[in-house]
Amino acid sequence: MLIKIQQLEVHPIDFRENFAPGQIDFVPELQQSGELRASGRAQLVEERHGKHRVIQDIRVNGELAASFQMVCARCLEPVIHNLTHQFDLLYRPLGTDAGKEELSVTAVEAEISYYEGDAVLLEDVLREQVLLAVPLKAICREDCKGLCPHCGKNLNLVQCSCEEPVEGPRWSALKEIRSKLAPGS
Ligand SMILES: [Zn+2]
Ligand SMILES: [Zn+2]
Repeated sequence: MLIKIQQLEVHPIDFRENFAPGQIDFVPELQQSGELRASGRAQLVEERHGKHRVIQDIRVNGELAASFQMVCARCLEPVIHNLTHQFDLLYRPLGTDAGKEELSVTAVEAEISYYEGDAVLLEDVLREQVLLAVPLKAICREDCKGLCPHCGKNLNLVQCSCEEPVEGPRWSALKEIRSKLAPGS
């Protein structure tokens, strides 16, 4: 769903959209299970820069809910993670060079991203929010014993004669994407 400046100039847009698995591309480790539901409102926020320049920001706020099939970081068995997440974002035109002291009150309250052209794609907003909100590691249960690093057996199911389980390196891809989306966090 494209959220267009031209439409927002007329009135805010309230959205309520469902996305089937596959409609939004996440990372391979993150398989959406069932529909992703999103609802909220998009509106135009105009910021004045000097006397004549008006910058058109798009504010998108709302919430999303979805379930994801993840992999237990310890034993690699599938885990369902139910995610609900609220967001309040401000999209500023790409290339707008606004110093921090120039930001309006609204801009300071919301997280700021940038949009290209004359629209924001809701799917992109949701994808980014999911990647930021989903836990880096899922575990199937608090006391999951994981895989034996030596013989690879699932220690929840069998006992082996080796020692000390460690966590798998499965999450590097998501970690990397997240550090690009939110540098410094
Ligand atoms: Zn596990
Ligand atoms: Zn072992």
